[in-house]
Amino acid sequence: MGCRNSKVLPEPPGDVQLDLVKKVDPLQPPQTDIYQHFIRGDEKTGGTGGGDKMGAASPLQAQAAIPMASAQAPKEPTELSDPQRKKVAKYRAKFDPRVTAKYDIKALIGRGSFSRVVRVEHKSTRQPYAIKIIETRYREGREVCESELCVLRRVRHTNIIQLMEVFETAERVYMVMELATGGELFDRIIARGSFTERDATRVLQMVLDGVKYLHTLGITHRDLKPENLLYYHPGADSKIIITDFGLANSRKKGDECLMKTTCGTPEYIAPEILVRKPYTNAVDMWALGVISYILLSGTMPFEDDNRMRLYRQILKGKYSFTGEPWPSVSNLAKDFVERILTVDPSQRLTAGQALKHPWIVSMAASSSMKNLQRCISQNLLKRASSRCHSTKSSHSTRSSRSTKSNKARRMREKELRELNRRYQQQYNG
Ligand code: ADP
Ligand code: MG
Repeated sequence: MGCRNSKVLPEPPGDVQLDLVKKVDPLQPPQTDIYQHFIRGDEKTGGTGGGDKMGAASPLQAQAAIPMASAQAPKEPTELSDPQRKKVAKYRAKFDPRVTAKYDIKALIGRGSFSRVVRVEHKSTRQPYAIKIIETRYREGREVCESELCVLRRVRHTNIIQLMEVFETAERVYMVMELATGGELFDRIIARGSFTERDATRVLQMVLDGVKYLHTLGITHRDLKPENLLYYHPGADSKIIITDFGLANSRKKGDECLMKTTCGTPEYIAPEILVRKPYTNAVDMWALGVISYILLSGTMPFEDDNRMRLYRQILKGKYSFTGEPWPSVSNLAKDFVERILTVDPSQRLTAGQALKHPWIVSMAASSSMKNLQRCISQNLLKRASSRCHSTKSSHSTRSSRSTKSNKARRMREKELRELNRRYQQQYNG
C-alpha cells in the first residue's frame, strides 16, 4: 500500500551489534535505465532506448505451466501516440530475444529492490504471466536472485507463487511466474466495502497454510509483509499468494535451520534477529503477527521514524491494543496476536499451532461480524500519508535520501493520491 516499507539492512539498537550481510534498499535501486519511463499498472509504457548488451545465455530451467483459469489480466493501453509506440518498442527491444520470441511484453506492474515485474502474454496460448527481471550485475541482486530461484524451484503450493520458467543472461535473470491480478493485500482492503474478523482469519489461514508448507520444507521466507501477499484475481473469492523469496533461506528438509543473516524489513523484523542470536523460522511467525495486527486495525504494532527507537520497541515487544478499532475487536483475536507477537521465539506459536488457534478455527465458521473496514482503511491511509510527509521532514531518518529516492517518494505520493481518491469515491459517492 501507499508508502512502502523498505527491505533494508537493519541498524543495531544502542549497543546491539549486527552482522551486516545483505544490503537491500529499494530507495537506492541499481541503475537500470531501461525502466525509467515505464509507468506502474496498466498506464502507458515507454523506455529510454539505447543499446543494452545481452550476455551469454545459460541453459533454461523449464517447469510445467499450470492453468490460470480465474486470472484476469489488466488491459493494455490501446491509444498510444507514435512517440509512445516507439518508446514501447525500444523498451521491448531491451528484453532478451528468447523472452520476446515467446512472450509479448505488456506493462510494468511492480517494482522491487533489484527487480521490475512486467505483465506479459504468452504468444501462442495468450495466457498472461508475470516476469520478474532481476539485475544480477550487482552482488546483492545476484544473492536475491539465487535465494528466490532456490526456493521457487522447490515449491508447489496453492498459496505460493508458481515459477514457470527462467531465462538467464550475464546481467539479468527473467523469472516467468504465474500472474497475480488481484493486487496487494491492503490495497484490496482499502478498496472493498467490508472487512470483518472473519475476513481477516480467512486471509491469515491462507498465508499460514503457505508458511506451514514452507517451514516443513526447511524454507524461511524472512520478508513476509503485506506487499508480498498478493490476491490471485480480482474476485471476492480470490486466494492469497505469497511472493518475493529474495531474502528466503532454504535448507534441506529436517535441517536444524538456524540462521544468522540480519535481513528483513524493519517494522516486521523479529527481536531475535535484532539481537544477533541464531534464529529459526519463528521469525516468519513474528512477521505474521505484525501482519495480523495491521490486518485488524490498519495500524502498525511497532512504528517509529527513528530506527533505533523502532528496534527498542520491537525488542521489548512493546505494543498496545488502544485506539480505534481495537475496542470492537474480539478478545480471541487479541489473544491470537499476543501469542504470535511473543518476544521469546520458543513461546511463539508455530504456523501449525496458529492454524489451530480458536480464533482462526471459530471465525472461519462464524457469520455476522462487525465491519472494521472503514476504520482500518482510515488508519492505513492516515499512516501512508504521514509516512510520505515524514520522508520530507529533516528530522526523519529517511531525510538523507538521494534524488533517486525523491523520485520514489513522488511515486508513493501518486499512489497515495490514488488510494485517497478511491476511498473518497467509496464513502462520499
Ligand atoms: P522485490 O523482491 O524486489 O520486492 P517482488 O517480487 O516483491 O520484488 O515484486 C515487486 C512487486 O511486483 C510486488 O510487490 C507486486 O506488486 C508485483 N509482483 C510481483 N510478482 C508478481 C506476480 N507474480 N503477479 C503480479 N504482480 C507481481
Ligand atoms: Mg517485494
